[in-house]
Amino acid sequence: MKIVIIGSGVAGLAIGWRLVQAGAQVTVLERGQPGAGATAASAGMIAVTAELADAQVPEIEFAHYSNRLWPDFAAQIEAESGRTIGFSRSGALILAEDAAAVSRLARQQGGVLVDVPQARALAPLLTGDFAGAFWAEHEAHVDSRALGSALATAFRKAGGKLLTNEAVVRIERDGRSPAVRTPFGLYPADRVLLAAGAWSGMIEDTPIAPVKGQMIALAPPPGLALPGPVLWGYGVYAVPRGPHLLVGATVEEAGFNTKPTREGREYLRAHAARLIPASKDWTLADHWAGLRPRSPDGLPLLGPSKIEGLWLAGGQYRNGILFAPAIAQTMCDQLLDRAAPIAAFDPRRFA
Ligand SMILES: Cc1cc2nc3c(=O)[nH]c(=O)nc-3n(C[C@H](O)[C@H](O)[C@H](O)COP(=O)(O)OP(=O)(O)OC[C@H]3O[C@@H](n4cnc5c(N)ncnc54)[C@H](O)[C@@H]3O)c2cc1C
Repeated sequence: MKIVIIGSGVAGLAIGWRLVQAGAQVTVLERGQPGAGATAASAGMIAVTAELADAQVPEIEFAHYSNRLWPDFAAQIEAESGRTIGFSRSGALILAEDAAAVSRLARQQGGVLVDVPQARALAPLLTGDFAGAFWAEHEAHVDSRALGSALATAFRKAGGKLLTNEAVVRIERDGRSPAVRTPFGLYPADRVLLAAGAWSGMIEDTPIAPVKGQMIALAPPPGLALPGPVLWGYGVYAVPRGPHLLVGATVEEAGFNTKPTREGREYLRAHAARLIPASKDWTLADHWAGLRPRSPDGLPLLGPSKIEGLWLAGGQYRNGILFAPAIAQTMCDQLLDRAAPIAAFDPRRFA
């Protein structure tokens, strides 16, 4: 089976890697560099509890399935690429600001309520005001920038072809078979997978829209230990990555604009200072923005499109890192005719 994948974010690369391992002939076409879209912009959280508090059942089940796949997925990527990706089953602490929030968290599954001293024992930098917290020990995080480049290496080493700086212009048809047009050539395929993230709708008519998110990285003073767990509270989250604490993220309707703004930075700094008071004096090490790919119903699009030969993997919105191993598995199985689409995620629901 000859498959052309458009886009080398976490979705396109993870699916391509699984397909090559299963014996398919795979070419990934990337307009820039691998993993440099939303994948690089993300916080890298594998957040089954905090991100999915109000999610629908199929999404929650898919998230838990993916979370279970993550340790082996990470270990295989590291073994095959020879690179580390910083996967850590760190757990997450979700702060409750007042008694009403404690009651809401008491109904949450996937963890336990802890009081303020217990929360501070888990994360001593939580010196501000809060009423209690929810400790979700199964949460994890990964360095999503390292993940993108390690996946690209693993994909290539497994025998996949990755062409960078080659933007797809359109998908053409040669009889019943699709072919992908770039400024440099035409790539015929048995099946084409569109995995171009928030930009997918620019290539083919798909209901995927961009949602901008800004993040900052803060550098603590030398010798100060960063929190182990991911922290949530006061409208932001904080994730340790190397020497920095990442704080995110804004949620903005701004089209395809990825410019970081002063307002975004000030919002994140102010809220980070409520979550971790000491951080108000930390140095700003970085500030960036990325585009999350969102579908009209907020659920991913994973499966065949209404166009023969064209398949979609998109619409993961805030959970594309969390979902990556499960998306790789289901899309590999579907593209090789080994499984049917998951009904709730079937792209043809919008046809
Ligand atoms: C600020 C922020 C924080 C986030 N935090 C998290 C988090 O903590 N946990 C989590 O699970 N998710 C998080 N997400 C969401 C997650 O990053 C995305 O859901 C995921 O990265 C989407 O992956 P993708 O491969 O579909 O898209 P992308 O990573 O955007 O990849 C798409 C690729 O397609 C390429 N492309 C586009 N057009 C073309 C073309 N014409 N031709 C060829 N290539 C093309 C792009 O260059 C890009 O490399 C976050 C997102 C943002 C913005």
